[in-house]
Amino acid sequence: MTLFEKIISREIPAEIIYEDDHCLCFKDIAPQAPVHLLLIPKRPIPRIAEAKNTDQELLGHLLLTVGIIAQQEGYEEEGFRVVINNGKNGGEAVPHLHLHLLAGRQLQWPPG
Ligand code: AMP
Repeated sequence: MTLFEKIISREIPAEIIYEDDHCLCFKDIAPQAPVHLLLIPKRPIPRIAEAKNTDQELLGHLLLTVGIIAQQEGYEEEGFRVVINNGKNGGEAVPHLHLHLLAGRQLQWPPG
C-alpha cells in the first residue's frame, strides 16, 4: 500500500482541503511554494504513463477538480501551476498518481 493510500484511509494524517468520491486534495508536507497541494485519485494509478483508457473519466475529473480548487482557493487571478512527475527523471517519488498544485509566488520556467 502506498503512502497516499494510507492518507486516503486516514492511517497517516494530512491537511485535507478537498475530498469527493473520486479524489482527495491535501497539503504537501514539503512545500515548494507558498501554496503546494497534492490532488490524488482514490483509485490508485501508479503514474500517468500507466493510465488506461478506462481511467479517462477519472483523469478528466482530476483536471477539472484541480482547476476548481485553484479557483475556489483564490489562486486563479495570480496564476498557478499543475505538475505531474513521472518516473526517475521526472522526479516521481510516490508511485500513486498525483497532481501538484503550486501557487503563491512567481514560478520559473523552464523548471530545474
Ligand atoms: P513526487 O516527487 O512527484 O512523487 O511528489 C511526491 C510529493 O509527496 C512530494 O512533494 C512530497 O513532499 C510529498 N509527500 C511525501 N510524503 C507526504 C506526506 N506524508 N504528506 C503530504 N505530502 C507528502
